[in-house]
Amino acid sequence: MLVTLKDILADARDNHYAVGAFNVIENVMLRTVLETAEAKEAPVIVMGLAADLEGAGWTYIAGLAKLAAEYHDIPICLHLDHCYDLDVIAQAVEHGFTGVMYDGSSLPFDENVNMTKAAVDIAHPHGVSVEAELGHVGGSDLAETQHVESVLTEPDEITKFVELTGVDALAVSIGTGHGVYRSEPTLNIERLVELTQATDVPLVMHGGSGTPDDQVRNAVANGITKVNVFTEERIAMFRGLKEAAKIDRIDPLPEDQFGPIRSELSALIGEKIELLSSDGRAALTIADA
Ligand SMILES: [Zn+2]
Repeated sequence: MLVTLKDILADARDNHYAVGAFNVIENVMLRTVLETAEAKEAPVIVMGLAADLEGAGWTYIAGLAKLAAEYHDIPICLHLDHCYDLDVIAQAVEHGFTGVMYDGSSLPFDENVNMTKAAVDIAHPHGVSVEAELGHVGGSDLAETQHVESVLTEPDEITKFVELTGVDALAVSIGTGHGVYRSEPTLNIERLVELTQATDVPLVMHGGSGTPDDQVRNAVANGITKVNVFTEERIAMFRGLKEAAKIDRIDPLPEDQFGPIRSELSALIGEKIELLSSDGRAALTIADA
């Protein structure tokens, strides 16, 4: 069933686990994520990026996700990932997304507040939750060559930001980065504890891919309720693709081509769900949905 970002994260915050948030492009990814989450009885967030939703993407990704969400017996949030454009936020609301992220993290504080508040004003009247970002998680989701420095989130800013914007979830910068790491990251757990104490709003970790498991567990124990994973999905799928390419047949069946991609991706999603302790949480997540 489709639920809002706010609802899916509320139980996570209360019970110290995190919900996996996975980018999906096309049916193979969407289906693999949802089937794996259902097998693990885990609530799950599927995300689309504006670039993938353009044109028919709204129909193929959002349309498919909404239909599939009705079929699967777990709480599912359909979320717009990193968005910098209020028109796209409005489009996502129109297409039935249950969560949107407005990313004003590279703007000065006051502008980030104003733009995020505008996104909230678009989304909330339709019952759609909003995630924002304070501080800045560097790197890039899309191009591994691009690199922007991270700026840690400041505890004294967080209370003010939440109060002024009314956001439902907040991405914080505590030492992760987007993309493939050049060296192992070290999360600033001390900072995370300060942030968790400063607000009741569920906190989100971007750049979850490649962060050592013990650090992810520690972050979840200290208040992270949503962990975004995209880079590792791509790495897993590429392993499957290379496996599929070994088939010695000129006309391999679709299942022979997509099967290895699906199974590598499914293994990764299952591992992440267990790492975040969201397995077995599906029935408990939404008490009154
Ligand atoms: Zn991100």
